[in-house]
Amino acid sequence: MTRREREVTDLNEIISILDKCKIVHLGLVDHGKPYVVPMNYGYTMEEGRLTLYLHGAAKGYKQDVIHDNPNVCFEMECDVVPFAGEVACQYGITYQSIIGRGTAEVVTDIAEKQRALSILMKTQTGKDFTFTEKMVSIVSVIEIHVSEYTAKRRPLPAALQNVQNPIDK
Ligand SMILES: Cc1cc2nc3c(=O)[nH]c(=O)nc-3n(C[C@H](O)[C@H](O)[C@H](O)COP(=O)(O)OP(=O)(O)OC[C@H]3O[C@@H](n4cnc5c(N)ncnc54)[C@H](O)[C@@H]3O)c2cc1C
Repeated sequence: MTRREREVTDLNEIISILDKCKIVHLGLVDHGKPYVVPMNYGYTMEEGRLTLYLHGAAKGYKQDVIHDNPNVCFEMECDVVPFAGEVACQYGITYQSIIGRGTAEVVTDIAEKQRALSILMKTQTGKDFTFTEKMVSIVSVIEIHVSEYTAKRRPLPAALQNVQNPIDK
């Protein structure tokens, strides 16, 4: 990472980013060309291993692309707030984000799909939901086995921390 001071390595802070983002931009490889699709996600972090869970229609372009090539890249961000400065190059944006790579697997086992959808809803809403076999039969669930990721944060510049953001005026 070029701006090493912005890297987030603390696992609790990474989990806080995962809790906040809600939307993941999933990058796929479509016969050598990139295809990016935004989706909601759920996640687990078990012994430092990150797994993402996605759901959607059983058919569609991304399903076909994943079938041909399960390699994925992903990005998610939160706390996106623009800020102003005196000159153009002092303008900027705060953010927290995660970028990673992994492999996608379509989950077919009913119990696994039920678990994945409960995890997804917990991440999205903070609430516990259960799913019947009928409910899970009409959706597709994709599990992303994350092989590597980095997290980064750009906070508000110190000079702006106790003043009103001119962009909010
Ligand atoms: C904030 C957000 C959250 C979403 N969450 C989910 C989710 O959790 N699950 C889910 O299944 N879908 C979600 N969607 C919709 C998702 O982005 C796709 O539209 C959907 O999954 C269908 O993708 P597909 O590849 O099967 O496209 P298909 O329906 O097969 O269509 C493929 C074609 O449609 C175009 N296309 C597909 N999606 C989009 C798009 N979002 N914007 C513009 N063009 C598009 C592609 O360029 C391609 O040409 C979300 C969208 C947004 C913006």
